[in-house]
Amino acid sequence: MAYVALYRAYRPQKFSEVVGQQHIIKTLQNAIQLNKVAHAYLFCGPRGTGKTTLAKIMAKALNCEHGPSIEPCCECDICKGIAKGMISDVVEIDAASNNGVDDVRALRDTVKFLPSSGKYKVYIIDEVHMLSPAAFNALLKTLEEPPAHVVFILATTEPYRLPNTILSRCQRFDFQSISIDDILKRLRIVAEEENIKVTEEALHQIANSAEGGMRDALSLFDQCISYSVNPEITIDDVLAVSGNISYQKIIELLDSCISLDETNAIKILDGILREGKEVPRVINDIILFLRDLLLFKNNAYLEKKIMFENEAFISLSKKVSKDIIYKWLDILNDANNQMRFSTQKRAFLELAILKMNDNEQNNFINLSNRLEALEYQVSQMNQNPNAYHEVKKQETSYVPHIPTAEELSNMMNNNPVVEDTPIVETPALTETKPIIPVTIEEVNDDSYITVKDVEAILNHGSRETRAKLNEIWQTSSYNQIIERYTSTNFTIQMLFNGNVVAASKEAFIVVLQDTGFCNKVMLYQNYARIIEMFSELGLNIKDYICLPKQTWQKILADWKSKYNEANPQPQLEEFSINVKKRVIPQIIEENNVDEELEKINELFGDDIKITED
Ligand SMILES: [Zn+2]
Repeated sequence: MAYVALYRAYRPQKFSEVVGQQHIIKTLQNAIQLNKVAHAYLFCGPRGTGKTTLAKIMAKALNCEHGPSIEPCCECDICKGIAKGMISDVVEIDAASNNGVDDVRALRDTVKFLPSSGKYKVYIIDEVHMLSPAAFNALLKTLEEPPAHVVFILATTEPYRLPNTILSRCQRFDFQSISIDDILKRLRIVAEEENIKVTEEALHQIANSAEGGMRDALSLFDQCISYSVNPEITIDDVLAVSGNISYQKIIELLDSCISLDETNAIKILDGILREGKEVPRVINDIILFLRDLLLFKNNAYLEKKIMFENEAFISLSKKVSKDIIYKWLDILNDANNQMRFSTQKRAFLELAILKMNDNEQNNFINLSNRLEALEYQVSQMNQNPNAYHEVKKQETSYVPHIPTAEELSNMMNNNPVVEDTPIVETPALTETKPIIPVTIEEVNDDSYITVKDVEAILNHGSRETRAKLNEIWQTSSYNQIIERYTSTNFTIQMLFNGNVVAASKEAFIVVLQDTGFCNKVMLYQNYARIIEMFSELGLNIKDYICLPKQTWQKILADWKSKYNEANPQPQLEEFSINVKKRVIPQIIEENNVDEELEKINELFGDDIKITED
């Protein structure tokens, strides 16, 4: 016997077997009982919600040898014939493939004949919105003066595409998406009758993936049965077949975003994409997950999902504020819109994830990261008081997919221009002292880069340093030292995706895509790595400033208009720049190190108390 797909085998044959749509069933049954059957029904609603199934049951109920009755017997020849599609009085037309005026005229010619075996001629026109305008006109003629023995049931997923003249002649029913609970009930029955073992978690995943469509749910279940080699179907089987990401993976990903661990976030994302998941699907799944997270936090969900009882999910919901969820949703929606016409979908998703790692608001969580960094630095200072750029190194051999500067500029649809900045030579600073960055000050979130900071670099320009930096930027992809840094720190790649627009002997200005990236590269943890890298590259760079393009252009215009030979160091107009300043390393005397260390330890101890509250 040939294999019958589950959704066919388990297609409801009676009104009582239909899942959901109870108000529609009730109305149809009342009409039959009261002998008030309409001549035209319009069944609207999402796919797989039972429109054609109910249309066929209605056809049986009207034509059953024991009817018309509110429930077909499903035993008589007519009921059986209709189920098999062998009764000429019940005509099923797929408007998607028969959408011409001739098709409708042919149909109209048969309308006038009386039914041959049943009591009604029932015309079920599926996807009726696909009919051509001429075909609609032809149909309209029939709907205007239908013979008493004719019932039209039009089904569509897109009722707004129907002419008003048609809509006004139909009794309209809007089918609702089938609830997850209803889909689950049905799936459990099917599993039991087919003697298929499946975990509860897997069933929930099927029901969720089906998005309210019973046919999709059963088709997916069918595919899982064929796919799974295990004695029991698991959630992994379902995820592999459906292409969805598991919420466990999403939780891991978002957890990394909260901890500002972008390397791990990108690594998890890479793992997901390696499994063959498509980028738009991944974004969509994360967006749906965040929606569920919001509903859960607001206690506003209608249906309890299995993940709402998951410990990792509950713990994540406690760690992330609604503000951040909204911000993440914005970032993902933007990425979704921007990637639509791009071939670089993956790069957009990665950038979105990086932006999600930039949560200034999430101070509570940041604090634990800061403490960890401080702890490490204090231990470093105890060993070597002169060490100033040692930070916790991320031990990983993972190499993320890094968008090249070209990919980035393609994505943004504009090519960043390297500005030609006038250069003024100034004498270098005469003395260098060991410096120790005092990271406690980083907690001060209110300090932003000022125009004065930019001015200082512009007014002390060094052609030599800028030429060296430009060369490093141009050859960055071949440089082994740089590669060693970028392979473990995605932020440094962001730096190289920007453009160096000005430099003094010891500092430079780099223009990046947006403020979020600037803040990321300016973070103290990244600063230390970047300075260390330049030192390895043989450059005495002590500082840098990241600016978004517009800000830079505004400052440059001002500088250009004021700069002349008489005044080579103009004073620029102040305005607020939305990029945070990383902490300025304090220059301290070597013999003061112990004292400074004590101070740090003191503050450090206080910080620990704060977190325990
Ligand atoms: Zn019957």
